[in-house]
Amino acid sequence: MMHPRAESDQNTTPFDAVVCDIDGCLCDENGGAFDLTSLAQIREHNERAISAGDRPIVTVCTGRPIGFAEAMTRLIGNTRLPAIGEMGVWLHHPHNAQSELDPAITTEHLESVLGLENHFHEVLRHEGVTMQPGKAASVTLWHEDTEHLKLRVFPSVREICEANGWPFRVSMSWYYINCDLAHISKASGIARFKEITGFSSDRLAGIGDTTSDLAIREQVSFFACPANALDEVKDVADYVASKPEAEGVVEILSMISEMSASDRGEEVH
Ligand SMILES: [Mg+2]
Repeated sequence: MMHPRAESDQNTTPFDAVVCDIDGCLCDENGGAFDLTSLAQIREHNERAISAGDRPIVTVCTGRPIGFAEAMTRLIGNTRLPAIGEMGVWLHHPHNAQSELDPAITTEHLESVLGLENHFHEVLRHEGVTMQPGKAASVTLWHEDTEHLKLRVFPSVREICEANGWPFRVSMSWYYINCDLAHISKASGIARFKEITGFSSDRLAGIGDTTSDLAIREQVSFFACPANALDEVKDVADYVASKPEAEGVVEILSMISEMSASDRGEEVH
């Protein structure tokens, strides 16, 4: 088991880690340019967390492919804690730059993924549907006509999964159909993270903005949202930032750091 912090540091901060979603939290949903000013502040937070041990390290938990999660992890200077990618399919370990598939994903599960990918190549691709590249054990589909995706493609994908006995949880977000293995989620990813780090729920904070982040909420003792979060996510948050996206995350981290300092009776720098 890996214990990234020394035992003596365990109780000097209210949390050991902050598990943060990426899209809508560290960057925008629509492919916009990175807010480097805010991301640099998050990196400074992490550098201090690692060197002084006086605040929790921020890591990421995302539905994006693991390569994107690795890049964001390096950008925000988390060199210690595992990152969770592809909705819990992967953990990426910064200390040895290796990514690890959840051992609960079997060869049989991967055959179901191949079956659905083949259905995409044989049928859906010719109907104007695209598949997000870079995923290993989940399938994410998009069509420029969101109504068509919702009313035609979504039910047909559910049907083909049922007919073939492929064990997917098929869900619809704003612009995508997400097909995730039913036993894998952000929650199962965080459970593995806890097993490896030895951190318990009461030592974790989380940040998220949409419904898949409700699984983060379940696994942490303190949950916060940027201002752009969906109402149903804000409703279960302990704190909602006044600012959106990465600026909101900076605001949340500064609030968490104040909690750390007030526990120790110190001024915040
Ligand atoms: Mg999000």
